Amino acid sequence: MGTDDAADWVTAAVAATRGWQEDVYRHVHQHPELSHQESHTAALIADRLRALGCEVHEGVGGTGVVGFLRNGDGPSVLMRADIDALPVREQTGLPYASEVTGTDAQGAEVPVMHACGHDVHLTCLLGAAAALSGARDRWRGTAIALFQPAEELGDGARRMVDDGLVALLGAVDVALAQHVLPFPSGTVATRPGAVLSAADSMRVTVFGRGAHGSMPQSSVDPVVLASMIVIRLQTVVSREIAPVEPAVLTVGSIRGGTKSNVIDDHAVLELNLRTYSDQTRARVLAAIRRIVTAECQASDSPREPEFEMYDQFPPTINDTAVTDRVRAAFDRAFGAQSQDLPLQSASEDFSDLPRALGVPYTYWGIGGTDPETYRTAAEAGRVEQDIPVNHSPYFAPLIQPTLDTGTRAMTTAALAWLAAT
Ligand code: ZN
Ligand code: ZN
Repeated sequence: MGTDDAADWVTAAVAATRGWQEDVYRHVHQHPELSHQESHTAALIADRLRALGCEVHEGVGGTGVVGFLRNGDGPSVLMRADIDALPVREQTGLPYASEVTGTDAQGAEVPVMHACGHDVHLTCLLGAAAALSGARDRWRGTAIALFQPAEELGDGARRMVDDGLVALLGAVDVALAQHVLPFPSGTVATRPGAVLSAADSMRVTVFGRGAHGSMPQSSVDPVVLASMIVIRLQTVVSREIAPVEPAVLTVGSIRGGTKSNVIDDHAVLELNLRTYSDQTRARVLAAIRRIVTAECQASDSPREPEFEMYDQFPPTINDTAVTDRVRAAFDRAFGAQSQDLPLQSASEDFSDLPRALGVPYTYWGIGGTDPETYRTAAEAGRVEQDIPVNHSPYFAPLIQPTLDTGTRAMTTAALAWLAAT
């Protein structure tokens, strides 16, 4: 079965899923759930997968769901969607806008919205599972639909892995994922190599010796120490990383002291780091530790500094051969609507899954913006200002052709392996 033929029947199969998919999408959009609390969403997904004839595993890593379509010997393809929403108050004005509130991890009541479009991803993956389930004579192998919680916290994929995901999945040949982004609906966009940055947050505590503000000779001043560190850290990207290698190091917070005439005994810095390769990430992290430790010595700090990593996301680096194969299938299916994806500064935890499995992967974008709105903004040179981006309270993907496009894209990419045998 060749993939040229695949484009036609996939289009027909996607048309057949359209009705229920739009209902599922509106329902999920109106009932968003925060990270690690996606129980209603997960139950809806599991019910739909069972109705499609999948072998379903629920509660993987908390609220994760995995559905298997086993269809004889052949490749095993992992298709992943994320399912969580954000603490954002929706302001789209859509008839199906969320009015839901939830309780965050700190116990505060917060508004909840699918402001990142994960409702699009899960609806498209359910549609791809339906298309594959309804055409078992056209492919062989195992199609796995994996619904991951808590992408927004960066630990949903890891929790599924820690809960025995590798053993549950068995042998896998390739992993696929997609994200709706603020470019014209109806288009798909791929990119080989680095596609999303790694993100790391680091809390650094440095120690001084407290004293009266009038007697600095008795102190080790942690505010001066922290200030020297902030200045010196500016040299990491500018002097230690090649200019063609993108990296960002931001000191987002610096806290020390309580009063003008008291020298405190510690200061806390919070750093955020974005990099696009494991080597650069390791190099910047090592430089931070080296500079902080050396500045503490220079100040005669009485205690070693403390480093705490949090909110960590791995880099997303698309396998070239896998991406080329998906791109060729997209070019056949979407023609001129199959485009190049620019390097993205956002981060994702999807790659924790293929890394744990030891398999190659690719991650692509689908457009969610009304093409007319986008064209008007582009002509005025106002895309950045006028087109709501992911996490905005105004982020409102056009239902169609966005759902059709994401469903066709995921199905087409999976068939590049499953229909090839
Ligand atoms: Zn997001
Ligand atoms: Zn997202």
